[in-house]
Amino acid sequence: MHVKYNYLKEQFADPMEDYINDLRPLIASGEFTFGPYVDAFEKKFAKYIGVKHAIGVCNGTDALMMALKAVGVKPGDEVITVPNTFYATVGAIVAVGATPVFVDCDERYQIDVLKIEAAITPKTRAILPVHWAGCSPDIKRVLAIAAAHGLKVVEDACPSVGATIDGQSAGTFGHVNAFSMHPLKPLNVMGDGGIVVTDDDEMAAWIRTYQNHGMADRDHIAMWGINTRLQPTQAVIASRVLDTIEGMIEVRNRNARHLDEGLRALGDRVKIPQRPKGNREVYQLYQVGVEDRKSLLPYLIERGIEAKVHYPLPLHLQEAAEGLGYKRGDFPVCERQADEILTIPAHQEVSTEQVDYIMKTIHAFYHSQ
Ligand SMILES: *Cc1c(COP(=O)(O)O)cnc(C)c1O
Repeated sequence: MHVKYNYLKEQFADPMEDYINDLRPLIASGEFTFGPYVDAFEKKFAKYIGVKHAIGVCNGTDALMMALKAVGVKPGDEVITVPNTFYATVGAIVAVGATPVFVDCDERYQIDVLKIEAAITPKTRAILPVHWAGCSPDIKRVLAIAAAHGLKVVEDACPSVGATIDGQSAGTFGHVNAFSMHPLKPLNVMGDGGIVVTDDDEMAAWIRTYQNHGMADRDHIAMWGINTRLQPTQAVIASRVLDTIEGMIEVRNRNARHLDEGLRALGDRVKIPQRPKGNREVYQLYQVGVEDRKSLLPYLIERGIEAKVHYPLPLHLQEAAEGLGYKRGDFPVCERQADEILTIPAHQEVSTEQVDYIMKTIHAFYHSQ
């Protein structure tokens, strides 16, 4: 049996004509920058997650940069985040001229809220918690710490459209927050896309001006801006995917529950992160910690299961981080997890039979030892 990591061909073939038909009126309209298709998607997305303003941009990295700038992060400021995230979280901090300051993660692979305060300095401007892998950190605690220290919160909800905490969407807690629509995120398009969201009218207005060259109108610029606009073609695609996202999240949750139950039988060999009651996860990645990953990973791949590791080297130990002054041992939880974590396919195109096959294969691996 073959269990693929990538589900895009299957997802967008179901049925492909629907996407092509959706694009016809856009092509006929010639509305290729901003325009009614982008507006309609932005409104629909804002309503879905429950926020006042949603602003489409080119990708999640741009969304993070815009959010950081909007809350006033400037060169020389420090921004607190985690060393176990996708590169873009830190790339965005550095791109706006700020310095990333790491705090370790907890056993759920989320920012350890007990370690945040020790990382705050007079230079700290913002906390950038990540909803890593489609799962949420203790965001309410992050907000309380930020409020106590006069800091801004920017949520990196890039991989987590649809995740909720006590019924409230990830990406609606911080001051300005970022989402990605990269093909391998829960809300995905046929290329790149990103969304910045906020309830703050002034920040929204600033973002809309800055994203479009800083133009006040066609003949006047209010500030030096950039060009980061959501492509109307991607807005059309995203709109249809948003209509089906709840069904996809349900399948991911069913697969994850099934895997959790089956793997729990293996005791200490597989560490399943706690799943807090009030949280809905979207399982952008289904991650667990496993014993002897070095042998298990190739064993699964040989048997057709495309498992992966996100990621084997934490960000503070990457070559790019050399100037930040960190060393091995600084973030022991994240460093240990880097050797344990395994991403198992549990996405919407994985069937119950495939989940059973994955479980049987992992059980066989440990029982053969
Ligand atoms: C995907 C991702 C990003 C970047 O999004 P892009 O659209 O690829 O630029 C940033 N942060 C996290 C946590 C992500 O998973």
